Amino acid sequence: MTIIPYGRQDINQADIDAVVEVLRSDFLTQGPVIPAFEKAVASYCGALYAVAVSNATSALHIACLALNVGKGDVVWTTPITFPASSNCALHCGATVDFVDIDPRTYNISVNCLAEKLARAEKAGNLPQVIIPVHLCGQPCDMAGIHALSQHYGFKIIEDASHAIGGRYRGEPIGSCCYSDITVFSFHPVKIITSGEGGMALTNDTQLAKHMQLLRSHSITSDAADMHPRAPTELWNYQQIGLGFNYRMTDIHAALGLSQMQRLDEFVTKRHTIAKRYDELLTRIPVVTPWQHANSYSSFHLYLIRLKLDEINKTHRQVYEALRAAGILVNLHYIPVYRHPYYEQMGFRAGYCPQGEQYYSDAISIPMYPGLTEEEQDRVVAALREVTSI
Ligand SMILES: *Cc1c(COP(=O)(O)O)cnc(C)c1O
Repeated sequence: MTIIPYGRQDINQADIDAVVEVLRSDFLTQGPVIPAFEKAVASYCGALYAVAVSNATSALHIACLALNVGKGDVVWTTPITFPASSNCALHCGATVDFVDIDPRTYNISVNCLAEKLARAEKAGNLPQVIIPVHLCGQPCDMAGIHALSQHYGFKIIEDASHAIGGRYRGEPIGSCCYSDITVFSFHPVKIITSGEGGMALTNDTQLAKHMQLLRSHSITSDAADMHPRAPTELWNYQQIGLGFNYRMTDIHAALGLSQMQRLDEFVTKRHTIAKRYDELLTRIPVVTPWQHANSYSSFHLYLIRLKLDEINKTHRQVYEALRAAGILVNLHYIPVYRHPYYEQMGFRAGYCPQGEQYYSDAISIPMYPGLTEEEQDRVVAALREVTSI
């Protein structure tokens, strides 16, 4: 029995050649390929700046720091995400809170956000930053979130780890038209990969500069940024803040840059697979992904909701039966605040009812460009079998 994963990378000879070329070159890290990769992503997305880093988790961290998130601050995100979307705020010493999801898109609900902001304003604990996550690559209602940011004065980081290649109202995700910073992940299950890798995009010169410093120890060798010192002393570099080694390597960047050439092809392929699933799943008791008319998803994931009242099994039983059949379905995601670490902060089950409803019946089925029709048929047949009474 061959195993079908829920996601996997697609590597071709050009990708391999690009990596090998770096291995034979003078620079393994911080060479010419990182800026070339940054430029390719920034220009694809229509953003002015892109800062390549070791992964999206570090990109989210320096994005928060660049926006001055610190002790006493509050950051809000969605519960239906990978914990890195909220951990970044905790790493800055801020507190985190969660806004319930929209029951159709599973993204942060702008209605819930508006209500929660009105309550927070009265209580005097408005958030400084909100981190919407484009789940599966389907964009959040960014115009709605941006309008609220204008009223309440918070900053926006888009966690677009799923969403490179997607579009919102005709603009590429990453354009930062409705946000301060947008973050991408290049983990192998995501849309394009650099092995490990992430990028933070912005149109703000100061934010870009701050993030560039933070990714490399906040050490500068730019005379304009250095503090004055005696002219007799040699100061060829200075540390002017507290940063990290969050750099990407040229090896990773070479893979990422090569993959950029097939980004549109990957997303088109994902749409073909999604459309075929939509058709094949019509007579199976599941809800297929709803798509907003103004958006073009990158379809990182294909999420279904089990109609459990029509199925003689529990969520967990369906999940386990599919795994036992060699179909490595997954759950994206357990609400972040239900994790023990977050429960210790005082969060309790039931905090976001829509998020928990989603958690009780959602499953991600295999979705990646190399998924064949035969494999897709096997997924559907297994799903039909386990959900039939
Ligand atoms: C994958 C992912 C991350 C983390 O990405 P890494 O590159 O693995 O650090 C963050 N947020 C979301 C929504 C993700 O899916």
